[in-house]
Amino acid sequence: MSRAEVDRSSTESRWSLEGTTALVTGGTKGIGHAIVEELARFGAAVHTCSRNQTELNECKHEWEKKGFRVTVSVCDVTSLPERQKLITTVSSLFHGKLNILINNVGTNKIKPTTEYTVEDFSLIMATNFESAYHLSQLSHPLLKASSAGSIVFLSSVCGVVSVNVGSIYSATKGAMNQLTKNLACEWAKDNIRTNCVAPWFITTPLADPVITSHYIIFHFSSLIKFLNDESKLKAIISRTPMGRVGEPKEVSSLVAFLCLPAASFITGQTICVDGGMTVNGFMLSP
Ligand code: NAP
Repeated sequence: MSRAEVDRSSTESRWSLEGTTALVTGGTKGIGHAIVEELARFGAAVHTCSRNQTELNECKHEWEKKGFRVTVSVCDVTSLPERQKLITTVSSLFHGKLNILINNVGTNKIKPTTEYTVEDFSLIMATNFESAYHLSQLSHPLLKASSAGSIVFLSSVCGVVSVNVGSIYSATKGAMNQLTKNLACEWAKDNIRTNCVAPWFITTPLADPVITSHYIIFHFSSLIKFLNDESKLKAIISRTPMGRVGEPKEVSSLVAFLCLPAASFITGQTICVDGGMTVNGFMLSP
């Protein structure tokens, strides 16, 4: 092999997930769906879950047609026994080794803090934080066994700055940002990197079109209602230096990068995918 061929082969392996295995929670819609496809495109064998068997089967069929290696199973991540069953399934599919865990499932309800109920608190905490925490714990032996593990949490800019609404959601995402740092330090010795991706508003093609033909709003049903008010969407756009909302593939590309060997020295980071929203201060007129 020539020097150029050796260089090319080493570069290609740094930018490939060939031979790796991944679990993505909530892969049937939105950002999770884009992450499944991105990881599979880079060569990973992916397992994903959601609560809806029919949608899982439909997605699996589409992925097979695209030549992606994706397996699916039903799991409500708010249920402890279902989380345990999911990891048993993944362990058996991937022979006890997992390279990538993407904690993607999330939900939200927008209310003033004084109106949240105990049930709201439990549901949002269990869906967004408890599930991600416990799945990380359950996956630890599998990630360690792979000798090159990577966890990515799907957080939100709401865990970085206040957006004035959704205090429980924001708290779950803030907790996730901190957990990223803890696991990065605690599990570095096990060759597991942990990072966090924090998006601002992201469109989801599978969601109902609302507001205008230019903006198709993501799947969170309560947020669709919230955004079905042109003044709110305008406020979001005007607060965002890039003047638009994002697309799932603009999040999935970063998630995949963080899992690549090319990112092998990056751990403990929370990176915003937000068109500049979180670095935007008060806007003075020129
Ligand atoms: P989405 O479109 O609502 O999709 C969520 C996915 O998770 C679906 O596949 C859904 O399928 C599954 N899911 C929901 N609850 C579940 C549960 N209890 N157990 C198992 N699967 C479940 O969400 P998204 O907008 O892509 O958001 C993905 C992540 O990014 C979330 O953590 C969210 O907080 C974060 N995020 C999103 C945005 C945005 O603008 N979209 C912005 C910032 C952060 P089923 O409902 O069929 O189970």
